[in-house]
Amino acid sequence: MKIYDTHTHYDDERYSPNYIADVLDGNTSGFCAVGCNLERSRLSVGIAERYGQIAAVGIHPQDAPECNAETKAELSKLAENPVVKAIGEIGLDYHYDPPEGTTFDDMKAVQKQAFIAQLQLAENIGLPLIVHSRDAMADTLEILYKFNRKPYTTVFHCFSGSAETATELHKHGILIGVGGTVTYKNAKNSANAVRAIPLEYILLETDCPYLSPVPLRGTLNHSGNLSYVIEKIAEIKGITVDEVVKTCNDNAARFFKLA
Ligand SMILES: [Zn+2]
Ligand SMILES: [Zn+2]
Repeated sequence: MKIYDTHTHYDDERYSPNYIADVLDGNTSGFCAVGCNLERSRLSVGIAERYGQIAAVGIHPQDAPECNAETKAELSKLAENPVVKAIGEIGLDYHYDPPEGTTFDDMKAVQKQAFIAQLQLAENIGLPLIVHSRDAMADTLEILYKFNRKPYTTVFHCFSGSAETATELHKHGILIGVGGTVTYKNAKNSANAVRAIPLEYILLETDCPYLSPVPLRGTLNHSGNLSYVIEKIAEIKGITVDEVVKTCNDNAARFFKLA
């Protein structure tokens, strides 16, 4: 059974057209090409068109300063393309130092503004949401809950929170994206989160080119490597690999409203 990858960055210059074609010839049935700024959102839409796949468009928190009236207008125009099935990745990321000459509070304020503006866009056009949240869970949830989104329309991609947080998200109908980190020895959180919620609320994702699973850490990641992630989830849940693939493929189809 072929695997669907819900979160990829195949616009990365390390991927050649042949490389992507090979991925789709392998164990991968399809993928979502996720944007992280206006330029890369455009590239992701191009990749989705070229390979008959889907895309998400959005401005990542680290690129939040570029989220102004003009780029927002461009983004909503881009989102009208029929291959665009989600807004993302958007959210809050407090992991790194603020840009030169600005304070931590400045950075937070700019990120929150961009997150809220794009959340509003997703609401207006009725698309699901791919959330990136790093070291910023409380603020992310505070903003998200104000929008009172419908169940099964929001995913926390590359989820690294606790079982408690996963359970809390599940109560609000929010999914988690699980990828290579679940195979890491020190990633007890990921395994516990997977254990805590029903498989129906998990999306498979590589976040490639990043986060290659064990035993391939440090190499260029691709959707085919999800097989390692799936084995790990099957082990945690005590079910077969086929059950994981089938359920997670169904989850992706339901989340992105794929026909
Ligand atoms: Zn991310
Ligand atoms: Zn990503």
